Amino acid sequence: MTIVETIQCSHCGAPIEFKPGEIIATCKYCGYTQAIETGQVFTFEHSVLMNKYDPVQVEEPIREWMRGGFLKPGDLARKSKITEKDLVYLPFWVVSVEAKSTYKGVFERVAPAVVKDGSVEKEYDWLVLARKASDFPTREYNVPLEGKVPYDFRKIEGFAKVLNSEVDQDQAVEMAKQQIEDHHRFLAQEDIDKIIEIKTDYTVKQVVYLHAPVWFVKFEYKHEAYSLLLDGATGTVIKGDIPSSGF
Ligand SMILES: [Zn+2]
Repeated sequence: MTIVETIQCSHCGAPIEFKPGEIIATCKYCGYTQAIETGQVFTFEHSVLMNKYDPVQVEEPIREWMRGGFLKPGDLARKSKITEKDLVYLPFWVVSVEAKSTYKGVFERVAPAVVKDGSVEKEYDWLVLARKASDFPTREYNVPLEGKVPYDFRKIEGFAKVLNSEVDQDQAVEMAKQQIEDHHRFLAQEDIDKIIEIKTDYTVKQVVYLHAPVWFVKFEYKHEAYSLLLDGATGTVIKGDIPSSGF
């Protein structure tokens, strides 16, 4: 059983439910977003991406995904039974940042090996999932950020679930920095074979709290259960299990 606690919304007084571990909550009656512990006003931009589908329409992009691609069984779209379709607004932090890494390393592809310097400089809208226990494939999700609008609770479908954040903005920025440096390490290794040192400077431009609509779908095909994640803003399948074609 999941323990659910409540606080009172600082804006409208309605009860806001939250679960252990959640630290930022959005009131479903007025859309006000606040820190659970302090009830403090949330000072960051809170955005949402709009979902385009209702539970019936969403079957269309799912079937379309099933029909496409030669790796899938030919009868997948026809023979699959969609058993679950849940729309969840997942919380993310979008950290807009310029990152420049300078590194020193050993280039071993020549003899004798040489020490080389180099740098990687890039701009990102880096996405950090604001939930801790989740295997959501953040890196495979191309968030259609251009579609984001200010969060409006009246536009959230009654059948949808809005998840609260378990990560605060400072933690999110730290996570983004860590992940970006790991990514730059990976990029540096195209240039050098062994990194001696790497240092990254960041200029954080903007931090946005974002709820993005993701459909959690389960389907059955030949008595086996499979799942897929679909971006409700674009209809793109973020990740989907592909049953074996049986070859
Ligand atoms: Zn409220």
